[in-house]
Amino acid sequence: MKKKILASALIFMSAFIFAREAFFTGDDYCISAEYNDKAFPGDAVFVKMTFSQSTKKGKSSKLEFSNANAFLQFFAEGKLSRESTFFTVSKNTKSSRTFLAGIPLSTWWTEDTKCFLKIIYSTDGAKKMEFELPFTLEKKEFVSEVIDLDESNSNIKADSSLKRMEQIKKLNGILETANPSAVYQTTPFLLPTNATRRTAFFADRREYKYTNGKSTTGLHYGIDFGIPEGSEVSACAEGKVVLAETRVTTGWSVVIEHLPGLYSLYYHMSQLKVKEGDTVKAGQVIGFSGSTGLATGPHLHWEMRLNMEAVNPDFFTGDFAFSGKN
Ligand SMILES: [Zn+2]
Repeated sequence: MKKKILASALIFMSAFIFAREAFFTGDDYCISAEYNDKAFPGDAVFVKMTFSQSTKKGKSSKLEFSNANAFLQFFAEGKLSRESTFFTVSKNTKSSRTFLAGIPLSTWWTEDTKCFLKIIYSTDGAKKMEFELPFTLEKKEFVSEVIDLDESNSNIKADSSLKRMEQIKKLNGILETANPSAVYQTTPFLLPTNATRRTAFFADRREYKYTNGKSTTGLHYGIDFGIPEGSEVSACAEGKVVLAETRVTTGWSVVIEHLPGLYSLYYHMSQLKVKEGDTVKAGQVIGFSGSTGLATGPHLHWEMRLNMEAVNPDFFTGDFAFSGKN
């Protein structure tokens, strides 16, 4: 089955901020791709791609897209930096199918990093095809701060016990899992609390000072909301609870799977209202805030991970998967 992309023109700005559309027409199918062509370091890039049978020349093809394979690649400074597999969002009809893929953008890249995206695909085992899409990183400043840890928090941070190492291994095992059928929500996510006071931001550059005079550097992976102990914490989106337990550094913690490779994390709670295996709705109460684990006071730490990497949670409160245009 030979197919040729005849035109790769027609790239234009759509009505959505940052959303760009591209159309590709083959002999018996066409592709429309929608994606955010700009983002800040620490955000993500998502591409929604719909394959459909072409009605060109009145010809009807028997092409189906159930066996379509597609990959999204991100190139930075000319080098392949990250790759992600497209998953099916909806099988619209027998002759049309919508796919989505997302890639996390490093918070260490700057507006000077030259980038582009490449999409590689094949349908029904046909010859591999590929096309490129332009992409721009925007300028963002991050906060730098020094955190003085007391005796108890110094001990937690330095804890290398088997128990803590096993907890880290378990969490990483969850976060590296991208289950293609875990498609729970592609509409904008909610904030996990009514509180608006933020005491720490995504990707703050931190220096931790220990009571023994030593220090280490690290990145703050989430957003901290300063809320009193016992405040309601709710799921930012529909999903499946994949972790609900107490951990050495993060205290009472919940992890929810929302999309293949996309997870939300909630730390330092005083009490949980869900258990592993539960399915939750967006806005459902999953626990109450507290200061368990490594915490200098009551707060909620809310984090998002995409393909293992911490990404800016605020990015997901926008229409990141272009659901508004379906
Ligand atoms: Zn935090």
